[in-house]
Amino acid sequence: MALSEARKKAQKPQKDEVKLEGPSLYLAAEWLSPFIGKTVLEVAGNTKIEKERLHKKTVLDIFSWGKHLVFQFDKFALRVHFLLYGSFESTINGKKVTGDYPKKTISPRLTLIFEEGDIIIYSSSLKYLETPHAHDLYDFSTDIMSSIWDSKKALKAVKSHQEDEIADVLLDQTIFSGVGNIIKNEVLFLVKKKPTSLVKDIPLSILPKIVKNAQMFSHQFYEWRKQFVLKKHYKIYRKSVCPLCGEKISRKKTGKRARISFFCLKCQK
Ligand SMILES: [Zn+2]
Repeated sequence: MALSEARKKAQKPQKDEVKLEGPSLYLAAEWLSPFIGKTVLEVAGNTKIEKERLHKKTVLDIFSWGKHLVFQFDKFALRVHFLLYGSFESTINGKKVTGDYPKKTISPRLTLIFEEGDIIIYSSSLKYLETPHAHDLYDFSTDIMSSIWDSKKALKAVKSHQEDEIADVLLDQTIFSGVGNIIKNEVLFLVKKKPTSLVKDIPLSILPKIVKNAQMFSHQFYEWRKQFVLKKHYKIYRKSVCPLCGEKISRKKTGKRARISFFCLKCQK
């Protein structure tokens, strides 16, 4: 096996890995907020970006947008995009704030060490944003966790995807920034729609429910994640039996995005 392939394989998480979706990143910004105003003392990791640049820099702000976590410094920001397998750990004043994230066997992409603790980032894409105001680069009206999330705008965008499968549309980060595969599957189960339903075949009365549930479930996800009880609240994601009718749950890759969908053929039409 070529080294790059071996590395790729090693970056794949174990089955039970907690996937980071928008609510987890929103929570990450909250958990890491004690580092605001603190200075990076040491930097390590296998990232290809010029990590030394972070040395002796003071964190001015930390915020999330969708699956991005942004660390603002004086003249630039560090954008961490968690992609499919990204994760992180953090210890603050001797306490591991990230709780039950599984222990990693892979090499960190980036480690930031402060007097107060550390932040360790895995399997993510890192990029510098050359601005003292990275917050202004983002449109928070599409961010599922934002207080200015615009449900009307989202509904309009969903309706413009008539020929697409609803599961693909829910993962569209330009419409639902922060929605990942867990939220997608759970929301479609809540509204009793099959992931492969085309938008044009979904009754007009159901579309606003999908949009509303995406937001509501994301906030619920945040609350559960915060208490480390998220997994036990999954109704369909990675389950084998439908909690409503007892039928076997179907699991297969669906749509153009070919992401795994879990659904009950009996309950979801
Ligand atoms: Zn069912």
